[in-house]
Amino acid sequence: MARIKDAVCKLCRREKEKLFLKGLRCYTDKCGVTKKPYVPGQKAKMRLVESEYYTQLREKQKAKRYYGVLEAQFLNYYRKATRKSGITGEVLLQLLETRLDNVLYLMGFATSRAQSRQIISHGHVQVNNKKVNIPSFQIKEGQEVKIAEKSKELIPVVEARDSAQSLSIPEWLEVDFKNLKGKVVRIPVRADIKAPVNEQMIVELYSK
Ligand code: SF4
Repeated sequence: MARIKDAVCKLCRREKEKLFLKGLRCYTDKCGVTKKPYVPGQKAKMRLVESEYYTQLREKQKAKRYYGVLEAQFLNYYRKATRKSGITGEVLLQLLETRLDNVLYLMGFATSRAQSRQIISHGHVQVNNKKVNIPSFQIKEGQEVKIAEKSKELIPVVEARDSAQSLSIPEWLEVDFKNLKGKVVRIPVRADIKAPVNEQMIVELYSK
């Protein structure tokens, strides 16, 4: 499984936004963006003019980091989005948003997308009653995602579930916390997607 190896808080600081990469710590005042609200590194401090290309590039980097996707995979999502009907930027976000790792995280069964990827790749998750250990697995409308019976007592899952019950679950998902399962009731539209990115800028970058 490909992974982003940089120090994760630096990734958020680089984008000047909380990308929620570190689980429950992101909601505390230990958050790197709260403690050090400036871009890391000397060169960044010296940058005075941000070109259009630079701004578009940052939006792409932010989206990749937010969803934990590497460059080649991200480009594949973009290409797939261009082949589908609809607004390319919105379709791109829909594809990322309906990855299994993201869905499991949004359902509250993992405290971060990184933890979600780990839970999935270790075989603790089922989609429509079949084991799926591929974090990028694309979830479709109507499919059920659940923690496998043997994994229901896993400490990270139980901790995530307990902290998630106070958080709001997106309207396109239905969650049964007691039985550690949930359903995608519909594909999200842009207004449902909380990713702090300007997808149009990403489309412009790739269209050059
Ligand atoms: Fe980002 Fe979370 Fe680190 Fe804050 S604590 S900088 S939101 S990864």
